[in-house]
Amino acid sequence: HNHIDNATVEKVEAAIAADDTHVHVPPYEIYREYAIAGGYEVLKNLRAHGDWEAVQETLLSAGLRGLGGAGFPSGKKWGFVRANEGPRYLAVNGDEGEPGTFKDRYYLERTPHLFLEGMLIAAWAVEAEKAFIYMRDEYPAVLEILRREIRALEEAGIVKAGYIDLRRGAGAYICGEESAMIESIEGKRGEPRHRPPFVAQVGIFGRPTLVHNVETLYWIAKINREGPECLNTVEKNGRKGLRSYSVSGRVKNPGVHLLPAGSTILDVIEAAGGMLDGHSFKAYQPGGPSSGLLPAHMNDIPLDFDTLQPHGSFIGSAAVVVLSDQDSARDAALNMLRFFEDESCGQCTPCRVGCEKAVKLMQAEKWDQSLLEELSQTMVDASICGLGQAAPNPIRLTMKHFPEEV
Ligand code: SF4
Repeated sequence: HNHIDNATVEKVEAAIAADDTHVHVPPYEIYREYAIAGGYEVLKNLRAHGDWEAVQETLLSAGLRGLGGAGFPSGKKWGFVRANEGPRYLAVNGDEGEPGTFKDRYYLERTPHLFLEGMLIAAWAVEAEKAFIYMRDEYPAVLEILRREIRALEEAGIVKAGYIDLRRGAGAYICGEESAMIESIEGKRGEPRHRPPFVAQVGIFGRPTLVHNVETLYWIAKINREGPECLNTVEKNGRKGLRSYSVSGRVKNPGVHLLPAGSTILDVIEAAGGMLDGHSFKAYQPGGPSSGLLPAHMNDIPLDFDTLQPHGSFIGSAAVVVLSDQDSARDAALNMLRFFEDESCGQCTPCRVGCEKAVKLMQAEKWDQSLLEELSQTMVDASICGLGQAAPNPIRLTMKHFPEEV
């Protein structure tokens, strides 16, 4: 726009900066409301005379596991990070880029302080020098809410100015991978690191770093306020706890549905109001595109950590997409691989070239299944990070469960 002079650009930028109403911020629980209802009492008590190991024990007895996708017991991470000499950092992974996942946004746009208090409890537990929040830039309302409420925390004296460092992601899916996120926080290109060393040992700027997902921190605050019973007394199909399923696809009521962790796809569809009129249930993605597609008849598996692995899939961030008889499993799988092709960071050949080759092979009228299987195994064996290692799941599951389509 060379006809717009710099002065005009500056004026427009200043007007945007002064007017935060260009972002639609939904009604949410502000600091004052949260504090009046007893918010931050837990944090203050812990800071005054808390025992981090007792809190860790509470989290473990609640059965809380990392809700970003990996499912690692949350309390255990604290011990790993504390085992390394300070200064230590905390990093919040808010780069919710898994297609079909929107649970973190759901909680942040409603009760941001449960998340913020959980974050400060975790920061206290590992004596973090600073807390970084890496937030998806595609969530402008969340960013605005966090800016306002971090300011409120600073004004209330709960944190020192600058203690919480809010960083914006730049739309790269791979930056949701914790070591790529750390590279990005350091100002570098977001490429996953080789492990070991793990980020708990060598994280941001080489310091031990605790990484938690947004929803995990929400539950850390809740468990400390309400006790581990809020999770460990819920039981279904032999599984304990609750899961926030992000449900989309051919259902009447898509959205975040909080259900027992032992719920099956039929429970999830029922909670989401059932199938859309005129659609019959055909297949589902249980946890993001890396989890591939399962057929409708596999409908009695509890959608929880560990339960889907024997079937070549996993729950990940619990992003459930429901497909109907009007959808093609083959097209859905191709779409997933196109996504991985776009989002591969390009650092390693099996993933960078493998995703591209897979897309080409999957566009053929008839899939060369043995070649696709050989390619899949190479990607699983030789890719650096989870993106390349899990990208073959949709290929393999589609060949196995929907052979008539390929
Ligand atoms: Fe990058 Fe893919 Fe290799 Fe991961 S597997 S490091 S995303 S190229």
